[in-house]
Amino acid sequence: MEEIIVMNMNASAEMRGYGREWQKAGKFFLKRHPWCVRCKVKGRLVSATVVGHVQPHRGDSKLFRDEKKRQPLCKSCHDHKTIMEDREIRYQY
Ligand SMILES: [Zn+2]
Repeated sequence: MEEIIVMNMNASAEMRGYGREWQKAGKFFLKRHPWCVRCKVKGRLVSATVVGHVQPHRGDSKLFRDEKKRQPLCKSCHDHKTIMEDREIRYQY
């Protein structure tokens, strides 16, 4: 199960052209946080395949590397989160 998640992560990261460091960090992160946090709250265990950012990193490498600013998400929760992002941005300013 875990191996499949790691392989998916690799494939999508390569397709999107992320750097090696990000791939390594993402793989490591999903290995330790294999379940989607949003689904878990609802009592469902869904494999996380995407590492989401709590805040938009906007190229800030310090934020990019901060594990507390990341969360494991499944594809559908990640897509949903992207839609909700506007609200979070407004809150920051
Ligand atoms: Zn989910």
